[in-house]
Amino acid sequence: MGTSTGKEYVERIDALNNEIWMDGVKISGKVSEHPAFNGIIKSKSVLYDLVKQQPDVLMDSTKQFNFSYEIPHTKGDLKKRGEAIRVWASETAGMLGRSPDYVSSAIMAMAGSAKYFGTYQKNMEHIFEEARDKDFTFTHTFINPQVSRKFYWPDGDDETIIAAKVVKETDEGLIVSGARMLATQGGLTDQLLVLPAGSFTDPSYLFGFCIASNTPGLSFVNRPSYAENTTSFDQPLSSRFDEGDAMVVFENVLVPWDRVFLYGDSDIAFALKTETGVESFLLYQSANRQIAKTEWILGVAQLMVESLSVTEYQHIQEKISEIAMAHEIMKGFVLAAEHEAELNAGGVMVPNGIKLKMAFHYYQKVYPRITDILTLIGASGLICIPSEKDFASPIEQSLTRTLQGDKITAKDKIKLFRMAWDLTMSAFGSRQTLYEQMFFGDPVRTPVSIYSVYSKDAAKKLVTSFLDIKPHEEE
Ligand SMILES: Cc1cc2nc3c(=O)[nH]c(=O)nc-3n(C[C@H](O)[C@H](O)[C@H](O)COP(=O)(O)OP(=O)(O)OC[C@H]3O[C@@H](n4cnc5c(N)ncnc54)[C@H](O)[C@@H]3O)c2cc1C
Repeated sequence: MGTSTGKEYVERIDALNNEIWMDGVKISGKVSEHPAFNGIIKSKSVLYDLVKQQPDVLMDSTKQFNFSYEIPHTKGDLKKRGEAIRVWASETAGMLGRSPDYVSSAIMAMAGSAKYFGTYQKNMEHIFEEARDKDFTFTHTFINPQVSRKFYWPDGDDETIIAAKVVKETDEGLIVSGARMLATQGGLTDQLLVLPAGSFTDPSYLFGFCIASNTPGLSFVNRPSYAENTTSFDQPLSSRFDEGDAMVVFENVLVPWDRVFLYGDSDIAFALKTETGVESFLLYQSANRQIAKTEWILGVAQLMVESLSVTEYQHIQEKISEIAMAHEIMKGFVLAAEHEAELNAGGVMVPNGIKLKMAFHYYQKVYPRITDILTLIGASGLICIPSEKDFASPIEQSLTRTLQGDKITAKDKIKLFRMAWDLTMSAFGSRQTLYEQMFFGDPVRTPVSIYSVYSKDAAKKLVTSFLDIKPHEEE
């Protein structure tokens, strides 16, 4: 009951024995000891341990549960949630897109508006209570395989199923076959949350459910690891924070009826994200995480310019200020979203969704820029980064002399520049950039959705009144 320790989380994940494939091999043995996963599992276990160390911040107000399972009813509750998200995110340098509080924010929001799910209300409540009481961690999936974005699913018959669909209904539940993309941390969590994806016309694709990650027939096909064959000196971020991303494969998976919270209802599926506040709470988590991440990037950048003695150059100061502004702008979006939060029909205090969508889109654009700044500052210093083994070899003295910086030893400077490289140029760093650009939708359709809901009426009125011309109605 209540919050897990890091050890309990690790033991749970090992005991699940989830079916994970990587590099053509099915992972066997304890997943926490596998070189691809031990870094991320250790990092997550540190997060869980932190909860007991900082209960005032990281537990709910009754001090029984993880903060992320507390349903906020006031703006004060919401701000407390934001602070806890930032504390957890800062512990992992903002690199964990799917730290446990991300998907649990969705579970919390859906439970807070459980009535929305009609006949499935009780299932939603039960899924939430179990997750909160056992402090579950989730991976989730809400998109279909790419294949072709020209047409919508449905695809072929049972032999040629691509996107996951219900192939049969039985007394016990739904039988699901096919695949879903792209579950970050797939296989490394207690549970899988499946949200509706793609077109909402064919009922067999219209479902939402939550099942254990070791449900028979369920497997996770992971991309190659960025954490293997490295050290915390050589790749300080990859080695600790590579979450993994997996295709989710369902082969006649039985989803018991009591784990289903949505089936066949296109109206409920269509408005789920907005009506329950899921979208706002997921974006609230990510905006707070991005605040923490940007502060880390600012720290790396400032230490780099000091180590190179380039702080007096104006373009350097401008670049550092650009990162600082990104940090402040993200904080501003979060403050505005909290300030304009409103109670929804379920009595949940939901942060302002449009402000948070703007924050997400702003970060889609600014993240590549602020990481680019690190490479522009580092220049050749990001290439000449000897490894831990080099420093333990006979050439160590020459490295120590040649690679020292201004008031910083060569070894410390290389540690710092390796971090900047890992943030920007390693496979891990490139994936971080793609992640920030894509994790909630692509950078093209996001502003389109902002345009469709953002009222331009007041702005138009200013101009039409000034010019005394006839205004058009809002589109
Ligand atoms: C690192 C990473 C981690 C992720 N983790 C998760 C996760 O944990 N869970 C999860 O469910 N998803 C996850 N995602 C998936 C993410 O939600 C999608 O990448 C995002 O929604 C974009 O969808 P897509 O990748 O299918 O791209 P597509 O929709 O296939 O788009 C491909 C290209 O076509 C363009 N395009 C496609 N359709 C249209 C259209 N109708 N109009 C205009 N342009 C169009 C896009 O702009 C883009 O340039 C992750 C993605 C990444 C990169």
